[in-house]
Amino acid sequence: MVANNTAKGHKGFVTTPAEQRFRAKYIVSDGCWLWTGTTQGRGAYPDFWDGKRHVRGHRFAWEQAFGPIPDGLVVMHTCDQPLCVRPVHLRLGTQADNLRDMATKGRSRNQHTVAAALD
Ligand SMILES: [Zn+2]
Repeated sequence: MVANNTAKGHKGFVTTPAEQRFRAKYIVSDGCWLWTGTTQGRGAYPDFWDGKRHVRGHRFAWEQAFGPIPDGLVVMHTCDQPLCVRPVHLRLGTQADNLRDMATKGRSRNQHTVAAALD
């Protein structure tokens, strides 16, 4: 005899956990995991409804992978791709770090352009 463990109650639908819904909203690749859902804000960051509130997708991804984000810290992209939600491409920093990081990247990009022009 095989025990019938299939839960077939009258209420046949299952609540999908936020984590599971999140996973359906990005494309996994060898590089960045790009968000395919809706976006929010000027930087076009991933927008995710976690069941209680709208959160930024990369923040949600960080919390799923590493735990709660300490107060006052931001989740930054090391890959410079706002739509990326791959935890290993994310790191914590302060808002000041974030601005400095963007400035540095902007500067190095300009230097690169200059170098290319001199070639
Ligand atoms: Zn990335």
